[in-house]
Amino acid sequence: MSYTYDDQNIFAKILRSEIPNKTVLETEHTLAFHDIYPQAPIHVLVIPKGPYVCYDHFCQEASDAEILDFNRTFGKVCEMVGVKDGGFRTIANAGENAIQEVPHLHFHILGGRNLGRMLAKAE
Ligand code: 5GP
Repeated sequence: MSYTYDDQNIFAKILRSEIPNKTVLETEHTLAFHDIYPQAPIHVLVIPKGPYVCYDHFCQEASDAEILDFNRTFGKVCEMVGVKDGGFRTIANAGENAIQEVPHLHFHILGGRNLGRMLAKAE
């Protein structure tokens, strides 16, 4: 399956500086910023700058440099926002079943409180 990227999604607009964001860390290929509706005391999003819909898309089509940068940045952000001691959860929703709202790959980093069990019951 191939993915089609919609460059009008909200994170594409953030990357083009059309919408402001509270940046945690920016590198050549990656941007990390605070979620606008935090669901935990720490809630940061890490996104590649390239046009990837979801993690699967990124893993298939991103360059080695992008993949390395994304992962190293993820690690640095965890250090910067202080989630390592208490623990944290990473979520990367993809597609309909996961109710992905923004069709640009993003890793949520959630921490700062007990996050409960992994999955809520389906509605
Ligand atoms: P998803 O459901 O796609 O995994 O998560 C999308 C996330 O993007 C949500 O947690 C939502 O709060 C966040 N979000 C949506 N619009 C904006 C925005 O304009 N700025 C920021 N910083 N986060 C946003």
